Parts: sequence; structure tokens; C-alpha cells
Amino acid sequence: KLDVKVLRYMSSDEFRVLTAVEMGSKNHELVPLTLIAQIAGLRHGGSHKIIGELAKKNLVAKIKNAKYEGYRLTYGGYDYLALKTFVKRGSVSSVGNQIGVGKESDIYIVADESENQLVLKIHRLGRVSFRAIKSKRDYLQKRKSASWMYMSRLAAMKEYAFMKVLYDNGFPVPQPIDQARHCVVMELIDAYPLRQISEVKDPGKLYSDLMNLIVKLAQYGLIHGDFNEFNILVKDNGDPILIDFPQMVSISHFNAEWYFNRDVECIRTYFRKRYNYESMLYPKFKLDVNR
Ligand code: ADP
Repeated sequence: KLDVKVLRYMSSDEFRVLTAVEMGSKNHELVPLTLIAQIAGLRHGGSHKIIGELAKKNLVAKIKNAKYEGYRLTYGGYDYLALKTFVKRGSVSSVGNQIGVGKESDIYIVADESENQLVLKIHRLGRVSFRAIKSKRDYLQKRKSASWMYMSRLAAMKEYAFMKVLYDNGFPVPQPIDQARHCVVMELIDAYPLRQISEVKDPGKLYSDLMNLIVKLAQYGLIHGDFNEFNILVKDNGDPILIDFPQMVSISHFNAEWYFNRDVECIRTYFRKRYNYESMLYPKFKLDVNR
């Protein structure tokens, strides 16, 4: 799906035109060819030929509305622009296998200039129904006609910002490396999601590590909001790493206690059902979170 060959065989004129489509998208849902030519600074005929080539490579899509013929950037084109930025900065120099398809993202193994393996997470909002996303994410409620590009870029920026704050404060999350457009580059964690682990060596230890993590986060002012077996990787030594936090809320949120209890309950239920592990001990918002 992420066609790396396209990256190699792209002329500078093609790149100019693609960038022009992106710039035009800021105030046009459908970017008119005349505007594309104007931004790219090419003759109209020149842009026409090049945009045809970009369309063939699925980097832009040609769309006709009632008034005019225009183009919009595709996810492929947006991926290309983000990758180009990472390559220029040296944070990515090659793209490897896809290792995950999340609900709202694609995950690839990539390598940087020094051949360190990293993870590239490409946010793909708008792939599931808009309503489903809208109900979950407060920042969208402020913007009625948010486009998929805008939503995905916002998700990536938010993820990178949270990951940086958490990482810098000693929380077990992947090290954030770089961010551009709808993409985040981060440390590759050598571990499997809790969901895929049928036998945990010491369920009591992992259970209390996870509960402590929920409490530590809350003492820091944050509630994960979706603390579940898909978002937790467990390393060989048993240590958990939190990989995904799209719905983080503040402990001053009016429903904070409800979110906190839901995260706690999610882990309790999972350990009971999956590992037949139950503990009398679990954190309580009022007792364990100093406000
Ligand atoms: P989504 O939010 O779309 O569900 P996730 O961030 O949860 O995407 O990632 C989906 C899958 O990709 C995870 O279950 C995990 O297997 C893998 N993954 C994501 N980030 C990393 C990482 N930093 N290191 C290793 N594997 C990862």
C-alpha cells in the first residue's frame, strides 16, 4: 500500500505540482488546475501533463463537480509528501514491512540513515465512519467539516506531543523520533500486544505494574481513556509499554473519575477473563489521585 518505488521515480516538477495540490487544498476541497499551475509556477499545459502522471500514480485524484474539474490529494500523495520530509531530515531512509493495521492507522517498520529500525505510524482518520470518530474525539466537535487530512495530521501531532511529554517524564512509551503531516516516527518496541499473549509469567506483577501506571499517569494529571490489551505491549522481561493514547483526558475533566474507573475496570476484567487473575486491590480515584 505504501509504494516506495514511487518515491524514487519522481521528477522535481512532479514534486512541485504535488506540493501545489497540497497547498491549494488548504482552501479548496477541489483544487482547480489553474490554481495548481499558478502555485507550481508552470505553464498550464505543463501542469496538465504532470498532474496526469501524478493521477496515474494515485497521488492525486481527478474529480469533477458541477462547476469545474479539479484535483485533490489522495492518502498516497500525502504519504509521499510526509516520507519526503522524513527522508530530507534523515529520520527515515527506507521503508520495510507493514507490521500492523490499526483501526485508524497503518504501521510500518522503517530504517533511518544509520540503519536503526524504527516504526512509522501513518494516521488514517476518515477510513472509518466520520460519526464514529466524531463522537470520540473532542477536537473534532469544534470543527464541523474537518477533512481527513486535517484530522489525521492533528492526530499525529497530538500523538507526538503526548509521547514526547510522557517519554521525557519517564513513562514507558516508545521514544518519539519525528513527526510530519499525518505521520509519527517512533522507537520500535520488541514486544507483542497484551492481547496476543495467552500466558503471562507473573500476572500479579503485570497487573500491579499496569495499575501503578494508571495511577502514576493520573498523578501526573492524565487519564489514558482507552487503557486496554491492544494498547499495551509486553516485553520479554514482563515490562509493559503503552503505545497508543488517542483519547487522553485531563484529571480535571468533569468526567475524570468515570474515565479513570473505566481504565481500571478494563484491566481487571481482562485479567479475570484471560488469566483467571483477580485481586482485591485496585486503585480508586479519590484515594490514589491527589488533586
Ligand atoms: P491504532 O491506534 O490504529 O490501533 P496502534 O498504535 O495501536 O494503532 O498500533 C497497531 C499495532 O502496531 C499494535 O498493536 C502493535 O502491534 C504495532 N505497533 C505500534 N506501535 C509500535 C511500536 N512502537 N513498536 C512495536 N510495535 C508497534
